[in-house]
Amino acid sequence: MYELNICHLYPDLLNLYGDRGNIISLSKRCQWRDIEVNVQNISIGDTFCYDGYDIIFMGGGQDYEQTILQDDLMNNKRKGIIEAVESGKVFLAICGGFQLLGKYYRTHTGKDIECIGALNLWTHAGETRLIGNLVFQVDFLKTQNHNGYVVGFENHAGKSYLGEGVKPLGKVIKGFGNNGEDGFEGAVYKNTFCTYSHGSLLPKNPALADHLIMLALLNKYPDFQGLAPLDDELENLTRNTLIKRFTE
Ligand code: GLN
Repeated sequence: MYELNICHLYPDLLNLYGDRGNIISLSKRCQWRDIEVNVQNISIGDTFCYDGYDIIFMGGGQDYEQTILQDDLMNNKRKGIIEAVESGKVFLAICGGFQLLGKYYRTHTGKDIECIGALNLWTHAGETRLIGNLVFQVDFLKTQNHNGYVVGFENHAGKSYLGEGVKPLGKVIKGFGNNGEDGFEGAVYKNTFCTYSHGSLLPKNPALADHLIMLALLNKYPDFQGLAPLDDELENLTRNTLIKRFTE
């Protein structure tokens, strides 16, 4: 029997717009396939031993919460997070989590707050908040029956920019995405996926959830043959209705 260990980083501080729904979605989609799942919450003061985990998740937070965890993140978790990303662990980071994985966050006053630096990207606080429904197209999700569209909700002041070696997760169809300027949304580096999409993201976009589960299983079980399909009729109906409403 397959088994996946999921680490939820700072669930008490980084959980905007139901980001925890991503953990529920990953867990349920595994359990429905008889894949055993263990979820461990890791927060301030806890040790983060990345090698015990197959999927690591970090949600979004206000600037305030990001400040609260800054010390713990930089002094106790930074090294492990960089190693986890470099070793190809499956990592999903939303909004504030996305920003924290980058090199720095430049505040309104021009002060650079150092971040983890696991990914070559950086964030500048903008003048206005970028708020609204978000639809973007992800190439690796495109199939005969799926247009690769992912739907979510964004609310951020930070504008993120990707450096060399980091690819965008998708192209913005509706909304602002990383910065409202270059048409890109999110970031991908190795098996790390970042996005501004709250919502929660994965319950609304089961194909993306399955992509992460599949990568985690392939990492752990090299002979893994592929995921059994699930009945996603309701999820897809919801997703398609939302996409239609937001793009037409
Ligand atoms: N504090 C960040 C910003 O406003 C992230 C917010 C969030 O996670 N939604 O840019």
